[in-house]
Amino acid sequence: MIRRAPVVLILAALLSASGARAENFGRNPAELKPVLQRLVDAYPGTIAGFDAGALILKNGERLPLSDGDEGKSFEQMLDRPDIGDMFAFAYPAGAEAAPPPENFDPGRIRVEALFRALYGDCQKGEVAGKLRRIAWVPGHGGGKVSVTTAQGADKALEAVSRDLDKLPASFRKYLVPSAGTYNCRAIAKTSRMSMHAYGAAIDLNTKYTAYWQWQKPDAAGHIKWSNRIPKEIVDIFERHGFIWGGRWYHYDTMHFEYRPEMLAR
Ligand SMILES: [Zn+2]
Repeated sequence: MIRRAPVVLILAALLSASGARAENFGRNPAELKPVLQRLVDAYPGTIAGFDAGALILKNGERLPLSDGDEGKSFEQMLDRPDIGDMFAFAYPAGAEAAPPPENFDPGRIRVEALFRALYGDCQKGEVAGKLRRIAWVPGHGGGKVSVTTAQGADKALEAVSRDLDKLPASFRKYLVPSAGTYNCRAIAKTSRMSMHAYGAAIDLNTKYTAYWQWQKPDAAGHIKWSNRIPKEIVDIFERHGFIWGGRWYHYDTMHFEYRPEMLAR
């Protein structure tokens, strides 16, 4: 079961109420400790632990908790985050789907060195060999998808698939055909790698998606949020360690990625 830590709940509430930009959640070592422990718990084969200054990988690499730059803009956090920045927004697991505050993108800030360590670098051919073809919602006739065996992401997606199979036939249209899993590419219009490049993300049926890049911002520069993905589907993914792109201000509602560290257990 997914259970949110009190600090995460409080921050999520503050952000929802104020529409605030990034809180310095990751800057307070006391607040960061539980999320660092979640990283260790989620990826025990790769992450050895943490100390006051860094996340420590089993290969000896140290990823700094803070790079000392406390004044980063949202774009700078996306482009050159430290480990603390990854947790700038608390992921609101289990919440009703709703328009997020401006720039509220929990899980969209990723330290690429960490994800390369977890899954490999697809541009060096390190990901393709770890992929496994699994049945995707076989009860709904979903065919097969390829997902990485690294970090147990394949097992997690199989658990999602089993639960989605229990949903009524009326849910099939959202799930089938899947718009894809592994794809060695950067996120559209950026140089940042997508979670699809690690084989740890899945897109549902494009026909029912909403994507912020397809929206023209209003006169004030705000992006209007919309969504057609039912909460039943989101709940199942979140229960098994996946976060949903529909919870982002820069939303992508067909997108789910394996990010158990964003979900308190
Ligand atoms: Zn996607």
